Amino acid sequence: MPIYEYRCNRCNKEFSQLYLKSTDLELSRCKFCKSQELTRLLSSFALHQTEESRLAGFDPSTPRGDAFYKDSRNVGLWAKKRMKDVGVDLGSKMDEIVERGRTGKILDDYDK
Ligand SMILES: [Zn+2]
Repeated sequence: MPIYEYRCNRCNKEFSQLYLKSTDLELSRCKFCKSQELTRLLSSFALHQTEESRLAGFDPSTPRGDAFYKDSRNVGLWAKKRMKDVGVDLGSKMDEIVERGRTGKILDDYDK
């Protein structure tokens, strides 16, 4: 069930809308003034985050649930963040390291 965030172009208020079925999308109206002139906002859970924004919002000290690691794009971020924090620039080696991270092997190295 998707939740979309909107800003109303008329009264400028923001609200989120839960959709039970896709046909509801076309019926979107501002909750406040009933205008249909809405701008859809990207929610903070959008799937189209750039890697930079993922890195920026990534805190390696916060435990992540299974759902986080089921998104393979998140795997390897931890290692990259660590490298950035300690100022190591591995250049082309980084791809290899991230690849190892995605297979879970990197944890063997860094947990020691
Ligand atoms: Zn409105």
